[in-house]
Amino acid sequence: MNVPLFTLNRQHEEIMDELMKATEEVIKSGKFILGPWVAEFEEKVADYLGVKYAVGVGNGTDALSIALSAIDIKPGDEVITTPFTFIATAETIAMLGAKPVFVDIDPKTFNINPDLIEEAITEKTKAIIPVHLYGQAAEMDKIMEIAKKHNVYVIEDTAQGIGATYRGKKLGTIGDIGTFSFFPTKNLGALGDGGLVVTNNEEIYKKAKALRVHGSSVKYHHEYLGYNSRLDSLQAAYLLVKLPHTDRWNEKRRENAAFYNENLKDVVKVPVEREGNYHIYHQYTIRTDKRDELKAFLSENGVGIGIHYPIPLHLQPALRYLGYKEGDLPEAEKASKEVLSLPIFPELTEEEKAYVVEKIREFFAG
Ligand SMILES: *Cc1c(COP(=O)(O)O)cnc(C)c1O
Repeated sequence: MNVPLFTLNRQHEEIMDELMKATEEVIKSGKFILGPWVAEFEEKVADYLGVKYAVGVGNGTDALSIALSAIDIKPGDEVITTPFTFIATAETIAMLGAKPVFVDIDPKTFNINPDLIEEAITEKTKAIIPVHLYGQAAEMDKIMEIAKKHNVYVIEDTAQGIGATYRGKKLGTIGDIGTFSFFPTKNLGALGDGGLVVTNNEEIYKKAKALRVHGSSVKYHHEYLGYNSRLDSLQAAYLLVKLPHTDRWNEKRRENAAFYNENLKDVVKVPVEREGNYHIYHQYTIRTDKRDELKAFLSENGVGIGIHYPIPLHLQPALRYLGYKEGDLPEAEKASKEVLSLPIFPELTEEEKAYVVEKIREFFAG
């Protein structure tokens, strides 16, 4: 049997008629840039998240860049974040000339360890970017308390966490700004690139909205140097089709996770869902010190797997100039050697899940 790590074909089969209809409507309208679908999606997704303002942008990376620019991050500033995330989280800080400052992770949740943040704060610290890794909330109460005390901004990188909650609040709406990605493999995925910036702060909203069109709110009048980064009309139309299904799809992922937890907890470290968190399992990631052997065994047996992430950001060649070395962030380094993500997409069948479990148990029995 072959079980893919991820596929969109099954989900798209389900909603194909609506997607085709949306395509035709957008083509016939001729309104491809910032058309009515973008405004409608912004309104609906803000409503869904329970936040005042939403700005559709080109992708999740640009959402971070625009968020950082909206709070005026510039050369010389420091921004605290986690080393155990996708490169975009730190890349966007560095590309603005600011310095990413990495704080090690909590080995149970893989999220930034809030107890280590305060000692990393300096006079130059302007913001903290927690990442809700794999779809589970970082410890926002502690993070917000530290941010308030030191008067720094919080940008939540929610690329993996749409629909997840922390103490009843949707992720991305707790800090000053939340950023999202609609990369096709995310829990709410477009049929191409897409991203979103959300905030309850009117000033930040206005600036983010200008930044996506070259820093301009009135055509050909440029208040800021900005970006050319809008959510496409087509992508917004697809996202409008998919948004109403998001909660159901997330719930299916949770059911899959519960099945894996039950059947794997005695052979590997299964994900820990902290109290107060509604985890949406963008990834279902286990830990084992036999990771590389298990990975090879599953690949040979047709089970799709992923490693998120094999190299922590502080050891990436592109960020070597920051001066970190091996051993500086031991928990992130250890995690990068032990994590393995399993197929968790909502349309996974009972037979497929059972096969994944069977093969993992076979590996550890052997
Ligand atoms: C996917 C992702 C991004 C970037 O989103 P893109 O839409 O691919 O630009 C940023 N941060 C995290 C944590 C992600 O998973």
